[in-house]
This record gives sequence, C-alpha cells and structure tokens, in this order.
Amino acid sequence: SAKAAGRSCWCFFSFELHQQTIERQSLINDLRQALPHNELFLVYQPIVEMQDGRIRKFEALLRWRHPRRGMITPDIFIPIAEESGLISEIGDYVFKESIRQLADWRKRFGEHLIMSINISPYQLSAPDKHMSDWFEFLHAQGVPGAAVSLEITENMLMHHTEVVSNQLLAFRDEGINVALDDFGTGYSALSYLNRLDIDFIKIDRSFVSELAEERMEKDLCEAIITMAHKLKLKVIAEGIETPAQAAILAKFGCDLGQGYLYAKPLLTEGAEALLRAQDTTRNQVHLGEIK
Ligand code: C2E
Ligand code: MG
Ligand code: MG
Ligand code: MG
Repeated sequence: SAKAAGRSCWCFFSFELHQQTIERQSLINDLRQALPHNELFLVYQPIVEMQDGRIRKFEALLRWRHPRRGMITPDIFIPIAEESGLISEIGDYVFKESIRQLADWRKRFGEHLIMSINISPYQLSAPDKHMSDWFEFLHAQGVPGAAVSLEITENMLMHHTEVVSNQLLAFRDEGINVALDDFGTGYSALSYLNRLDIDFIKIDRSFVSELAEERMEKDLCEAIITMAHKLKLKVIAEGIETPAQAAILAKFGCDLGQGYLYAKPLLTEGAEALLRAQDTTRNQVHLGEIK
C-alpha cells in the first residue's frame, strides 16, 4: 500500500541520514587528530603583477592528507572545522605557519613579498584575545602588518557585520590588508566596500573562466575593475588559466592575477624554485643594463 511504501521510504532516508551522520562524525574525529598528527599542511599559490608577471603575494591554501582517505580538499573539511569549532585551532596553525614561511622568504627573496591568508567568519567571532595573539606573533617574527592580507568572503560581511567591522578596525591598526574573496558570488551590498575599509577585491574564478567567450562576463569584469578603482581598491583576478583571459584583464587595468596560467598551489620547495628563477631573471636584466 501507499502507506507501507511511504514507511519503507522513510526508513530508507532515515538510514541514509544515519550513515551520513556517522560519516560526518568520523571525519570530525579524524580532523581533531589531524593537527597533532601533522596531516595538515600548507601550499602556496603565487599572485602576480598583471603588468610584468612578477610574484607579489602568495595565497596560503590548506591541505589535509588523511591517513586512509588520501587528500581531502578544503571545500569539504573547512565547513566541518567551522561547525565543530576546530576552525579556531586550525586557523591559528594556518596563520602562524604561513607567517613563519613569509618571514623566511622576505629575508631571502625580498621585503616586497606579501602573504594572503583565508579567514573564516567563525574565527573572527571568537573573543579578540585571539587577534592580539596573532599581532604578537607578527611582531616576534619581524613581519610588518602591511606584509599580510586577510581574505574574507562577502557572506561573512552579511552575517557578522558588527563583530567583523570591529575586527577589521583592529587589523587596520596593525596595517594589515583586507581582501574580499570570491567577489561577485555573494549578496554583497556595494556600500560595505566603502564602510569597511577594504583594500583588495578578488574577482571570483567563475567570472574569469568565462571571460574569453562571453560578452557579459567581459562587461562584468570591466565594470567591477572600474568601480573598484573609483573606490581606491585594488583588484585581483582569481582562476586565470589562459593567456587570452590574462590579456583581457590586463587591458581592463586589473592589478594582480592568480591562476594555473602562472602557477598551481605549490609546496615550499616549488615556490622557492619560482622565486629563485625570478631573482635570476632580474639579475640578468640588471647585468644587461650595466653592460
Ligand atoms: P579560495 O580562497 O577562493 O581559493 C582559491 C581556490 O581556487 C583554491 O582552491 C585554488 O587552488 C583554486 N584555484 C586557483 N587558481 C585556479 C585556476 O586557475 N583554476 C582552478 N580550477 N582553480 C584554481 P582550494 O585550495 O581547493 O581551496 C578552496 C577554498 O577553501 C578556498 O577558496 C578557501 O575558501 C578555502 N580555504 C583554503 N584554505 C583555507 C584556510 O586555510 N582557511 C580557510 N578558512 N579557508 C581555506
Ligand atoms: Mg582565498
Ligand atoms: Mg577566492
Ligand atoms: Mg573562490
């Protein structure tokens, strides 16, 4: 009967849900062990000047090498970290590890380098003792605030305006830059851009990937860049994969670019190889001038 079918349906879904809950709970338990077991690590993706292709920043991106499941992407485990409260501890690791790396690179490859770090809203709504801890760490590592960008998403501004704007002011006092990540995908009110004192917007990959073919995406990117510059914001385009996309963005005056065209996210050694290669080019140019 329909009733029996309905009931067996209910049982089926209930079983599925039950499985999902167990699955999720087991991932949370594993994630709790991930830091102490050294399963989390950072990769670094270069962000380059559109004008000359030189590396200006690196974005720190988190990876989880799970002992049984293999690599798990942040799109899966960051939400779990947020809901379970583990994000605070994990976010601390990301900040300190990436700043330690930046301090080393600035000494060896130049003081122009900047580290860009993704921040979850859950981290900022925690008590602010957290932030002073970070600021002390920066000072101890000899890294000025101006060498740090924090990437936040539009939705974060939607739901946490009060707390977030206070935290942004604290960053501002340290000279830290703020970048609005995945711009264009959320429900952003343009008034936020002015009120919150943001330094960079990052045009989302979904706009950039359509750039060469779609007229509308071209217009959108051009409008975003023009508007941003009017508001004295710099623009980073993410997900640039082809020279055609780069050429269009450069023509529109986009300041910085990031994407597989330049480099994928790299382990420390890979990033250093790129930095060394750039150093060599610069020295060659320099020697050429002397001659
Ligand atoms: P996001 O901050 O927007 O980072 C950019 C994502 O685009 C990265 O994915 C990067 O690998 C990818 N990407 C860059 N260039 C290209 C390209 O040319 N083509 C394609 N197809 N992809 C490109 P990833 O590393 O998987 O990170 C996904 C998201 O996870 C990030 O998006 C960010 O929201 C979050 N995330 C990563 N690390 C952290 C972290 O340490 N803390 C927090 N709170 N979130 C993080
Ligand atoms: Mg980001
Ligand atoms: Mg992004
Ligand atoms: Mg994105």
